[in-house]
Amino acid sequence: MVMYSPGKTSSYPDEPVDKGLRYHFLGGGSEVGNVGIVLEGVKGDRLLIDYGLAPTDPPRYPAEAPKVTDVIVTHSHIDHIGMVPWISGSHHSTLHATHITVALSELMWRDCHKVSRIEGYPLPWDKRDMDFALESWKVHNFGEWVEHGNWKWRLHSAGHIPGAAMVEIDIGNKKVLLSGDFDTRDSPLVSGASPVDVDILFVEGTYGGRSHPEKESEIKRLIERIKEVKNRGGTVLIPAFANGRGQDILMTLHAALPNLNVHYDGMGKIITRHYLENSGYLKDSEALESAFHWAKRVSSKSDKKKALEADVIVTTSGMLDGGPSIWYLNRLRNDERNAIFFTGYQAKGSGGRMLQEDGKIPIFGNICQVDLEWDTFGFSTHAGHDEIVEFAKLCGANDVVVYHTDPINARPPLVKALEANGHIVHQPINGQSHIIE
Ligand SMILES: [Zn+2]
Ligand SMILES: [Zn+2]
Repeated sequence: MVMYSPGKTSSYPDEPVDKGLRYHFLGGGSEVGNVGIVLEGVKGDRLLIDYGLAPTDPPRYPAEAPKVTDVIVTHSHIDHIGMVPWISGSHHSTLHATHITVALSELMWRDCHKVSRIEGYPLPWDKRDMDFALESWKVHNFGEWVEHGNWKWRLHSAGHIPGAAMVEIDIGNKKVLLSGDFDTRDSPLVSGASPVDVDILFVEGTYGGRSHPEKESEIKRLIERIKEVKNRGGTVLIPAFANGRGQDILMTLHAALPNLNVHYDGMGKIITRHYLENSGYLKDSEALESAFHWAKRVSSKSDKKKALEADVIVTTSGMLDGGPSIWYLNRLRNDERNAIFFTGYQAKGSGGRMLQEDGKIPIFGNICQVDLEWDTFGFSTHAGHDEIVEFAKLCGANDVVVYHTDPINARPPLVKALEANGHIVHQPINGQSHIIE
């Protein structure tokens, strides 16, 4: 656990930059999530891109950020936004993001604060910092240039989730792009990201070395499996993240099986309302609206009980770490006709991972055996290995910095493929600065 002592725990160097562009990862350089990237140029222009945490057990936090006037937040997932209230409260920095990221920030921070209290982990920021951060936002549309000292920057759509942005920075002699979390493939919610012509690309490598299954066949497989469970009289529990994944699943089910009885519970409901209020970020807002109204939205205890009779329950937490998904699992677990279908990555230490590895999971404090059938379906909205390599090529980047990645398994195959295409590839290490000339 990192407890901040401002000015004492930052790994950021004091020396000014004498040439090129300096990058420094406070976190997220050689791990997935927990992102904090400081960029600095020779004239002292400095930006912080993202400041998140890793919601593992216990959580991981990036190193203390140096003083920055401006922070650009790529999207509203907690591994990119979770520590922003700290920087805002400590350095009074101006925060920049798309409208929908701003709209969701309060919800994400309140949830993060609540979870840290329930799980007993101290958070380096408090509600006063959060209130300060909420007053510090500046909203930006995609494509709109913003002056920053001798630099200028703008946001581009990253795919991934509604409002997720890539950041293009013109540093004078060079152009830089940070992908944030991105996907070049379309999802039900958003269209895929397009390449941007740059010299230096910072790209997320979550799926280095791994190819995604073909989307259409994965949807077909999910649909067939749901029909099987329904036909034997069971209910499928689909734990899904509130901010993006749950809505993708609802839209997919609505399009493929309009007669299915689907119940939707958890924080995703309110996030969906924010999506619909910011419909300009959606690929097809009408499709989301009808899927959302088609699903039975659970809002009371009696709704919850009715949901136990459903064909499918889509709910949070996406990793079976508490929330309604545990409430449902506790009631569904003794009837072997039921099943659990995962649609996202289950982090080490999460309830979902324990269930997958040992068939056991903590439910309200007790470790319980769960013998239900389970399966995993690929609904990721991160670019896969091939998409990342192709994207770097189409951006025409000379230098490629691979971050937001597992340095042991995911990054090496990606580095190899990128080098084979002639890019100079950088493998950042948290806490170490590096200059690209
Ligand atoms: Zn991320
Ligand atoms: Zn994300």
